[in-house]
Amino acid sequence: MNTEKLIQAIHKIAEKMEAEKDFLTELDNVIGDGDHGINLARGFGEVEKKLSDLAEKEPSDVLKSVGMTLVSTVGGASGPLYGTGFMKLGMSLKGKAEIGMPDFLEAFQAAIEGIQARGKSTKGEKTMLDAMIPAKEAMQESWGGTQDVKAAFAAGVKAAYDGVEYTKTIAATKGRASYLGERSIGHQDPGATSFTMMLEIIGGMA
Ligand code: ADP
Ligand code: MG
Repeated sequence: MNTEKLIQAIHKIAEKMEAEKDFLTELDNVIGDGDHGINLARGFGEVEKKLSDLAEKEPSDVLKSVGMTLVSTVGGASGPLYGTGFMKLGMSLKGKAEIGMPDFLEAFQAAIEGIQARGKSTKGEKTMLDAMIPAKEAMQESWGGTQDVKAAFAAGVKAAYDGVEYTKTIAATKGRASYLGERSIGHQDPGATSFTMMLEIIGGMA
């Protein structure tokens, strides 16, 4: 993936967040405060305005810009968390005009670690990490066995979907949903859901 494809992917993510705004907000209505879709649609709307100025930059700079825009325009937990994730992707990919799967996996790991540090969170707390961490592990394993980009993304997207299903089975211990405690069981996590949508788009372009 190069800058041109990356910018296309981010446009598609922005479109998807706008299209799924009500669905994501509805999920957050049940266990949070009903703003996840609104937050992401607004944040990626701001991101889109900046993309045309970034066509000549390297992927790293595009990702850092996305991250900074999300941090500065999205209120709520998901802005700083996704923002950190995109900034870490950018930092990890510095100097690379073309992103290969090993680069992506390394950057993905850095993003997860950044989100964990920022959110003081880990797997099993009913957050976006319950889709991200299994997705990254599945991609790593698939890539190690097949060296096939499409297969690796397919494995990652499947693991992310499974992670979303898993979030239905556990109580939240981080974020607003943790206020509900056990009553959050039975409902899928909005952030795990939005992440899965993003990964599916990136996989579709790879
Ligand atoms: P807010 O919770 O501030 O209203 P959003 O509704 O936009 O923000 O985002 C909620 C999502 O953020 C949750 O579904 C969850 O996936 C994620 N999240 C919240 N807190 C954390 C955390 N500490 N670590 C990781 N992810 C988190
Ligand atoms: Mg919310």
